[in-house]
Amino acid sequence: MRIVTQSQRRKDMDLLLIGAQGSGKGTQAEKLSQALGIPHVASGDLFRKAFDEKTELGIKAKAYMDRGELVPDNLTVPMVLSRIEESDCVRGVLLDGFPRTISQAQALDKGLQRVGRQIDLAIYLNVPRAELLSRLSGRYICRVNQHVYNIHANPPKVPGVCDFDGSELYQRSDDTGEAVQKRLDIFFNETIHLLDYYGSQQKLVEVNGNLDIDQMQRVLLKEIHDHQESR
Ligand code: ADP
Repeated sequence: MRIVTQSQRRKDMDLLLIGAQGSGKGTQAEKLSQALGIPHVASGDLFRKAFDEKTELGIKAKAYMDRGELVPDNLTVPMVLSRIEESDCVRGVLLDGFPRTISQAQALDKGLQRVGRQIDLAIYLNVPRAELLSRLSGRYICRVNQHVYNIHANPPKVPGVCDFDGSELYQRSDDTGEAVQKRLDIFFNETIHLLDYYGSQQKLVEVNGNLDIDQMQRVLLKEIHDHQESR
């Protein structure tokens, strides 16, 4: 009898989560990454890490981030593509926050094509704008690993402390004031066009993002599983 190991059984997959700020995308991506055994690559986390490490890229990006604007492609695209080229991503990757524009989607396609890969599935978490605003005001993330909490829907066990690594929880400077509105505007005016981009390639699945965290995780895993089975 041939013994099939877990890694042989799992098909490689490059996945993309699309969702507005506050859609629960980061929380779901973190859980999916664990369930599927592929790295969670979040462009915003890469920028925040670069800033914490005081790199030139991080310092340049921070000014755009604080205003709620997109960081220019000449900084964003090479940063994400080089992360995808790291060895832990060879069996697939779960992208979160990148691409956000059609030009980024095209650059991603080119970058993946060069190594014989492509986005297999893009999943859109659809949440109404009014709900997004109330969720963002309660969002806290941890200092060390960017684990995401919501003081109403997903509080930490001990207030102000991350359940996973014990680090301090803080509210992002761009989760308040005008920056929030600007980020939502960019999403609904610009990023939303990715739905047509991936839809026309028959790679898009849309799910109702107004579910609780565990329900949504089950729905996402089912969609991904169904897609794998159909390949
Ligand atoms: P959110 O999706 O809640 O805005 P992220 O952590 O994904 O949060 O991103 C934070 C900020 O990082 C964005 O507002 C933007 O300034 C920058 N950023 C992240 N991803 C991209 C991207 N793909 N293109 C340009 N800027 C980006």
